[in-house]
Amino acid sequence: MADRARLPVLTARGAVAERTVVSIATAGADIRIGGRAVVVAAGPCAVENREMLLSTARSVRSAGAVLLRGGAFKPRTSPYSFQGLGADALTLLAEAREQTGLAIITEVLDPRHVALVGNHADALQVGARNMQNYALLAEVGRSARPVLLKRGMSATLDELLMAAEHIMAGGNSRVILCERGIRTFETKTRNTLDVAAIPVLKRETHLPVFVDPSHAGGRAHLVSPLALAAIAAGADGLIVEVHPSPASALSDGEQSLAPRAFATLVRQVAVVAGSVGREVDVGRPQARADDGSEEPNEEIGGGTDEVSDLAGLALPVLLDTLAGVRDDIQTVDREIISLLARRVALGRRAGRVKRAAGVSVVDPLQEAAVLERARELAEAAGLPYRDLRALLRGMIAISRRAQLNDEAADEAESR
Ligand code: PEP
Ligand code: MN
Repeated sequence: MADRARLPVLTARGAVAERTVVSIATAGADIRIGGRAVVVAAGPCAVENREMLLSTARSVRSAGAVLLRGGAFKPRTSPYSFQGLGADALTLLAEAREQTGLAIITEVLDPRHVALVGNHADALQVGARNMQNYALLAEVGRSARPVLLKRGMSATLDELLMAAEHIMAGGNSRVILCERGIRTFETKTRNTLDVAAIPVLKRETHLPVFVDPSHAGGRAHLVSPLALAAIAAGADGLIVEVHPSPASALSDGEQSLAPRAFATLVRQVAVVAGSVGREVDVGRPQARADDGSEEPNEEIGGGTDEVSDLAGLALPVLLDTLAGVRDDIQTVDREIISLLARRVALGRRAGRVKRAAGVSVVDPLQEAAVLERARELAEAAGLPYRDLRALLRGMIAISRRAQLNDEAADEAESR
């Protein structure tokens, strides 16, 4: 007689009519994992400090990642290696989400930390070493957060599915499976990426399948070919380690990509995704939090000290630095434009209130007051007054046009 306990029930392909699409919605992101679009998560192996996390977050976002990874609690082979910043890292990850709109995924090691990690992160990661930690699986099964379940380094696919079954039996059906390489006799690579796992899992289960090319290959030069192979084989997403300076990373530096290499990878992934009828979800630009006014002076002044440090650097390093700075500029432009969109939306709201109050939509006094503030704002930001005033004039013109269009539309409707 077949032993029912050996067969997956909830994870089986036929358990539901459609493939599972795991949605992660935050103020800044609306991500669907398991649909047509391929999703990329990226970030450092471990959160090391605020600066490196925020800079990595900005660069992976401008490259097209929609999720930020970063270990707070690290499962390290040696107890003497860096173990992660713990709860402090969770706060930093939440700050990175505020600033960039990226959703956060981070590993939970201990069942007692599931609620804490879930309060800060948008998705939980169960690492390879914990794939069969049943207390942890039960606890994440009770969580409302999606779970990225990594395949154990010596686990069969049936065992992976049974681990997912534990989570789903606990009530959490938002499981994403992750192939991250398995242990074989090969020593040239950290693990062996089981590419066949992707089509096998896609056939046997309705759950989405991610691939981690970083832990699979263990070397930076392997990340891109493995990632592309994964997408060609049908993976729904990638989770990639990126570090602003891989050579000085506290963990997994040898397999981490520098931001520029990661940006190249995402472009290549988009090409391969297109060739198998998919696309890459590069997210939508988001404004940062209302009060997220980082001191602009700090950023403007920040460049000057650096000049002397740059003098001794080799050309390739300088070019890499330039590419990184350009990535950051692109991110800032996206932020400015989405802030501008918010400003126009507020202007239109003001316009509606003005019409309801029976006052004129165009308000020269208010516009003058905005321009008057230009001097103050320019001083605070260390920017030339005339240029800033021209910028504000442009913003006012966009907002005024939107309000006048709304007014005309309202009048046309009421006629
Ligand atoms: C990680 O993602 O940082 C990690 C430790 O991965 P794995 O559990 O696959 O080794
Ligand atoms: Mn790692």
